[in-house]
Amino acid sequence: MGSITLKNVSKVFGAHAVIPSIDLDINDGEFVVFVGPSGCGKSTLLRLIAGLEDVSDGEIVIDGKKATDLPPAKRGLSMVFQSYALYPHMSVRSNIAFPLKMAGEDKAVIDKKVADAARVLNLTDYLDRKPRQLSGGQRQRVAIGRAIVRQPDAFLFDEPLSNLDAALRVNMRLEISQLHQQLKTTMVYVTHDQVEAMTMADKIVVLNRGRIEQVGSPLELYHKPDNLFVAGFIGSPK
Ligand code: ADP
Ligand code: MG
Repeated sequence: MGSITLKNVSKVFGAHAVIPSIDLDINDGEFVVFVGPSGCGKSTLLRLIAGLEDVSDGEIVIDGKKATDLPPAKRGLSMVFQSYALYPHMSVRSNIAFPLKMAGEDKAVIDKKVADAARVLNLTDYLDRKPRQLSGGQRQRVAIGRAIVRQPDAFLFDEPLSNLDAALRVNMRLEISQLHQQLKTTMVYVTHDQVEAMTMADKIVVLNRGRIEQVGSPLELYHKPDNLFVAGFIGSPK
């Protein structure tokens, strides 16, 4: 369902090779975290997978099919951003339903999918509120709800918690992990926060200047960092 393969993928902006060349396999159902310092190319890599940017070279395969030239809507992925990007004048219900309305789904189907998503995200009691009547964490859950109703093969998260305060971040981290256990859908999660990476990931991809320094489980990276950059970033001296 939600496997993603990058083959020799590169991205050049002007004269700057932001991603020189990346090979990566993401397995169906995996929770994969891209971690690395600000500006290392995490968002760019995610946007290439999403189709929001075109690759300069290489190939992207999603669910066994070549996706390199597919528009974002045809890739079967849902993206959750750092800013909630909710429609302020619409209710929570309408915000979550929005992608389904755009896709021309029947009202009965929309109502059921919205109710299901709201239950999973503990938003059932908030469906008639406007975004301004919600806490930051609730707003982020609405943004996730909007991604869930499309029943994607994979979710792409770009620093979804960085606008939240520390206590709420810990909560939402748990909630997203629980969501992954429930849905068993592939999740690709970008963060510059080592703790998020170590606590949420099945597999961590450590990026530095557009290159992969190491791929491994949190334990592998912690106990056997390949180099000083990884050791320093994960926080264990070699
Ligand atoms: P991260 O998400 O890891 O902070 P980004 O992927 O946003 O990093 O950016 C990686 C590099 O690519 C940065 O040097 C950034 O300035 C550059 N970059 C990103 N998007 C563009 C763009 N549209 N045009 C030119 N340069 C860009
Ligand atoms: Mg970014």
